[in-house]
Amino acid sequence: MKVIGITGGIGSGKSTVTAMIRDLGIPVIDADEISRKLSEKGGKVWQAIYDSFGPGFFLPDGALDRRALAELVFSDGDKREMLNRLTHPLIRQEVLKRIEEIRRKGLHRIVFVDVPLLFESGWDQMVDETWVVAVPENIQIERLIKRDGFTVSQARQRIRSQMSLEEKCKRADIVIDNSLSLEYTREQVLRQLEQRVQEGR
Ligand code: ATP
Repeated sequence: MKVIGITGGIGSGKSTVTAMIRDLGIPVIDADEISRKLSEKGGKVWQAIYDSFGPGFFLPDGALDRRALAELVFSDGDKREMLNRLTHPLIRQEVLKRIEEIRRKGLHRIVFVDVPLLFESGWDQMVDETWVVAVPENIQIERLIKRDGFTVSQARQRIRSQMSLEEKCKRADIVIDNSLSLEYTREQVLRQLEQRVQEGR
């Protein structure tokens, strides 16, 4: 079974592409969803953040105050590093567990792992192949304004806090260009998947 890591930049269309892949019946393990689950009250990530960042980042009902934490890590690179060092190994462990579950069932030739920080957190070394969903920065900004109601400068700040899409494209095995129609994006995804299936024969 081939494990493909898929990533993008904020708003570049990773969720759009992974939805297409899921529609084809190919499993996609979502690292963000796992992270959210482990961050629920009492979860492993919740506990680790509580122990290191303190009660200031929690709401009165004990839930993680995501907004406060996001504000902190978007403006402070060291804190972002610290949070990543704390949470990534816990998320990695759970993702690996799910890959093994799918492998054991023996029903799929390909599994995708959707990881926003694929290259930054070393996931690229743990998968067989990497895909990046990319668009030029002006389109990224346009879509973020439309989707999230960001101002241009908020969108830029979010984009700049990540590794550039250009750098991700250089490192990727496959780049999916999502700057044009959804149909064009789907064609590229199908073409790549067909090749993988043929290679596997
Ligand atoms: P994030 O990682 O920030 O959640 P993402 O990479 O998953 O973002 P999407 O949510 O898939 O990105 O796409 C961002 C926005 O752009 C969405 O509103 C989506 O509907 C829109 N979009 C995605 N692909 C296209 C396309 N080819 N043409 C027009 N709009 C698109």
